Amino acid sequence: MSDFPLLEREMNGKPLIYLDNAATTQKPLAVLQSMEQYYRTHNANVHRGVYQIAAEATDLYEAARGKAAAFLQAKGAENIVFTRGTTDGINLVAQGYLASRLQPGDRILLTVAEHHSNLVPWQRVAKQRGAVLRFLPLRPDGTLDLDVAAREITPRTKLIAVAHISNVLGTIHPIRALADLAHAAGAAVVVDAAQSVPHMPVDVQALDCDFLAFSGHKAYGPTGIGILYGKKDLLAQTEPVQYGGEMIDSVELYDSTWKPAPWKFEAGTPPIAEAVGLGAALDFLTELGMDTVHERVQDVTRYAYEKLTQLAGVTLYGPGLNQTRGGLISFNVGSVHPHDVATVLDACGVAVRAGHHCTQPLMRWLGVHATVRASFGVYNTRDDVDVLVQGIQRVQEVFL
Ligand code: PLP
Repeated sequence: MSDFPLLEREMNGKPLIYLDNAATTQKPLAVLQSMEQYYRTHNANVHRGVYQIAAEATDLYEAARGKAAAFLQAKGAENIVFTRGTTDGINLVAQGYLASRLQPGDRILLTVAEHHSNLVPWQRVAKQRGAVLRFLPLRPDGTLDLDVAAREITPRTKLIAVAHISNVLGTIHPIRALADLAHAAGAAVVVDAAQSVPHMPVDVQALDCDFLAFSGHKAYGPTGIGILYGKKDLLAQTEPVQYGGEMIDSVELYDSTWKPAPWKFEAGTPPIAEAVGLGAALDFLTELGMDTVHERVQDVTRYAYEKLTQLAGVTLYGPGLNQTRGGLISFNVGSVHPHDVATVLDACGVAVRAGHHCTQPLMRWLGVHATVRASFGVYNTRDDVDVLVQGIQRVQEVFL
């Protein structure tokens, strides 16, 4: 795809094959240009000035909120909070929504595969309130057993937080079914959508989730911006966790009142250019069509899965080809350390991630220290996978 200037680079004298999209995605020209255009022609602080440029900046910022609402099929812009990213959104729910509701002995339900961003904030709030963390086990192929989930959810379960797509296993979790179970028990559902929103159609109303968080930079947008979706009544019940300018309604010396959601969560000058860039990224994806984006990533992922399973000595983790999986594959090459695999691939021009992927408990569950992960984006092709496979064969020549 010629829309992505960075992909024209070489790496170690080879054409760059970028397969670390689960960590962050490259940015299309439309995003780069929208941010430059913002700074060149509309830069001013939002929600404050009465002059024309300030009104333009405010309109662009609020238009991006509207684009995020439409992209997620939310009821309206008031469901959309700008955050710094997935981590920030989940921390806001943990401290702003859950903390004041938890009683000692209440339960928070997660899976063993969560990213640290969807684990550590819940550990913290559980410790603060004397609540208990419970973990849904996974089947050996990394999928969730809904019968087990149904047994695990009790009236003490106050919240279920789960990744839509695991950033290591690639499992797509059945969010709607979990939400139905959770709601029947009076629990709220938080979806870590960092790996799903960029690559598949996500409809928050169809999922019936209570909160959903994702990061702009994993969705072809800039760093420093993300979205927290929340149901209107729940956002109204959520307390801000940051206080200061912009989020207030009226301030007295000893007390203040806030604006309504979502603005009460956006204290201080927000990342305006980043919101504009995220809006452009969502436009870019919408123009491609999320069904098309999903099909492309699925095609490359299935092709990669088939090719990798044909390589002797390569272990793949997560669901097999009989299940739909997200656009990433974690694997190991015999006993070669994942960092060595990634180093050889780097020399071949292939950028992959190696390590624990911010999921240390999951690594223990898998019985490994680390894995290699190839993760795909809209610009990846079957040819890229062929270069990856040649690189892995090179690893095998060098180390085995
Ligand atoms: N959740 C998942 C599943 C992720 O893959 C990531 C990033 O790798 C995050 C959360 C954290 O995202 P961020 O660092 O943008 O807040």
